[in-house]
Amino acid sequence: MTYDLSNKTAIVTGGSRGIGAAIATRLAADGAHVVLTYNSSEGPAQAVVSAIKANGGSAVAVKADASDPSSVAAYIDKAAEKGGIDILVHNAGIARMAPISEAGLDMFREVYKTNVDGVYAGTHAAIPHLNDGASIIVISSINSHTFPIPGFAIYGSSKAAVTGLVKGWARDLGHRNIRVNAIQPGPIDTDMNPADGGHAEGMRRMTALRRYGKSTEVAALAAFLASDESSFITGTGIDIDGGMTI
Ligand code: NAD
Repeated sequence: MTYDLSNKTAIVTGGSRGIGAAIATRLAADGAHVVLTYNSSEGPAQAVVSAIKANGGSAVAVKADASDPSSVAAYIDKAAEKGGIDILVHNAGIARMAPISEAGLDMFREVYKTNVDGVYAGTHAAIPHLNDGASIIVISSINSHTFPIPGFAIYGSSKAAVTGLVKGWARDLGHRNIRVNAIQPGPIDTDMNPADGGHAEGMRRMTALRRYGKSTEVAALAAFLASDESSFITGTGIDIDGGMTI
């Protein structure tokens, strides 16, 4: 199944690997022009762009550190120059796991700078450039509302914060037919949560489907939420977790 995203311009933050690369690739395959961001090495981001172009799609990579609010203009301006922004996917994120007894304020601030400040600053800067009917998607987590093992307080609460922002922004922007939703993945096989990592077997057992999800499965949900096929869905967080949170 594909969705018609032709003539739409999309931003995907953290698009050089994992879920972000899959979303960038999928949105481009469905017809969107994609501006993807990276914060460190350019090579992997350009590899995603090259693969999209080889598939007949349109994409460009822009360096922008999601934890630095002053850097959001770089990708907003790049996307806006093609006639406004239709799809804004906040995917860039980091995970740090430690119980409160070990996690100090430094770790708290590090995680919130990328996972919350970056999402807030990017959305705020995008507002004047968002076309009516745009779709904003934030990659949150099932840890926004469930804490299956110790050590998730900082990461999980940062994701709860952005799921909360999504609900407020859906109210703020609905009069322009701009929809805002969160995708809340469970275990997805990426560098952040590898399916062969130390916790992997336990994670698998906690899902009903007894497996990790794939980045492409998250990308399919993002494409749906980006498209007009989801035109009455706004202000919600959708779990995509193989049944982990049943
Ligand atoms: P990943 O580590 O493979 O990818 C994270 C991406 O974010 C990378 O491209 C990285 O370069 C980018 N990034 C990190 N900090 C950045 C910054 N300051 N500026 C710009 N880019 C930055 O992990 P992933 O699993 O693909 O994670 C993508 C999103 O999905 C994250 O928000 C993560 O919290 C969320 N998520 C992942 C899982 C999972 O199981 N993999 C589950 C729930 C939610």
